[in-house]
Amino acid sequence: MTSDVRIPGLESPVPTGLLIGGQWRPSSSGAVFDVLDPADGTVLAPVADGTTDDVTAAGDAAAAALPGFAATPPRKRSEMLRKAFEIMTARAEEFALLMTRENGKALPDARAELTYAAEFFRWFAEEAVRIDGDYRVAPAGGTRTVVTHQPVGVCLLVTPWNFPAAMLTRKLGPAIAAGCTSVVKPAEDTPLTALLLAQVLAEAGVPDGVVNIVPTMNAKDVVATAMADPRTRKISFTGSTEVGKILLKQAADQVLVSSMELGGNAPFLVCDDADLDAAVDGAMLAKMRNGGEACTAANRFYVQSSVAAAFSEKLAARMGAMTVGRGSDEGVTLGPLVNEETVAKVDRIVRSTVEAGARTVTGGTRPEGPGYFYPPTVLVDVPADSAAMREETFGPVAPIATFSDDAEALELANSTPFGLVAYVYTGDLARGLRLAEALESGMVGINRGVVSDPAAPFGGVKQSGLGREGGHEGIGEYLTTKYVSFPL
Ligand code: ADP
Repeated sequence: MTSDVRIPGLESPVPTGLLIGGQWRPSSSGAVFDVLDPADGTVLAPVADGTTDDVTAAGDAAAAALPGFAATPPRKRSEMLRKAFEIMTARAEEFALLMTRENGKALPDARAELTYAAEFFRWFAEEAVRIDGDYRVAPAGGTRTVVTHQPVGVCLLVTPWNFPAAMLTRKLGPAIAAGCTSVVKPAEDTPLTALLLAQVLAEAGVPDGVVNIVPTMNAKDVVATAMADPRTRKISFTGSTEVGKILLKQAADQVLVSSMELGGNAPFLVCDDADLDAAVDGAMLAKMRNGGEACTAANRFYVQSSVAAAFSEKLAARMGAMTVGRGSDEGVTLGPLVNEETVAKVDRIVRSTVEAGARTVTGGTRPEGPGYFYPPTVLVDVPADSAAMREETFGPVAPIATFSDDAEALELANSTPFGLVAYVYTGDLARGLRLAEALESGMVGINRGVVSDPAAPFGGVKQSGLGREGGHEGIGEYLTTKYVSFPL
């Protein structure tokens, strides 16, 4: 059964089927899986559990829709995205509540995500009509070259649960703008937001087959089947570095165009000349936005020795004052983590870091009772090789260590295989820029706790990924370059 489901607090029912070629369908096996409410572990909705046959059918639909969609005038594709932006904005509260229900995040975080997510559609509506080319004269004269860009083809989009709307619009926006068709595999914890989004895109005029959605509990086989489908031309993945590496190996077999937004281990540097209150405000955003469940989350704090005690005290006071509870309850600023595995990982990392010698200033103990809650936690005197400094915690934990000078700060910050984002707080912009240039990361925030922006090229270096999402670069990931050469 895959009838639409009513979610408490939402006006309209939410689809729970697979979307293939414009049709909502049950799984070919008839199976469903349960999406849980992380606040109490109860079942929110049963969703169709897609099979390898289903993902191949989605590939059929995407391949069939491709020629027509690739030939659709850019202005039309642009207007579909603009319309989708408007619908999402008009239904913002509904989307926010749905994300809170299936992901657990506090409503203010869900609202912020919805705004950010919708903005990708507006941004790429504006990019769709600016796909340009050029006309070149050969250095020796005679030959002319026309350089143009074409949609890459059928895209496989695999998304995570931490930002169920934004991680998808960030891929679907440029895919639609470029004229590509897609098969989407949303995260098993949060498929409902993707299904509601697909409904919005249909309402905005996106033709049948352009966006196909296959939720599944069997990500491994379903994704591998789509990766091996010769009609798939591109994989765009957001998730763990571990799974990204598996997909890159699979991508090699078909030489797929690959965009990978993988794990982070963001350092947050506080220099002795920083405005400490501003640094604490920034730290709260960098650490606690989305409950710490973000690849951009500040994962390691390095504070210059002379200001470390003051910074830790202020941060612990702010963290300790957060209101933890069901994400949709009034006044809650930290909801539960998404699932048992995630909260168990956070708990393990904190225990092991404390055993390694760190001191807990606030939080640090998993509460009893239902739901996947973990309290805001600040650890100080954290050893460099402890779990909290090495692993991506993906939770509300701020481990703090000190540095004596900028050379040491850089050595500590760069001592990781990851390189997504880094944050620097300093009162001296030149010092901030020198640090930013030397930090091994794709993005740096100076005196800012959030750098994400649909108009900026998001992405990492080292094992944090390949390719960029957003900005002018984002659409390029969905286009191939072709040139036509002729004598004149
Ligand atoms: P996280 O640790 O954030 O859950 P994952 O990398 O495990 O991140 O998951 C991100 C996405 O990748 C999800 O949609 C998930 O279903 C999918 N996924 C997980 N394992 C595999 C796999 N072996 N092959 C393909 N996709 C996978």
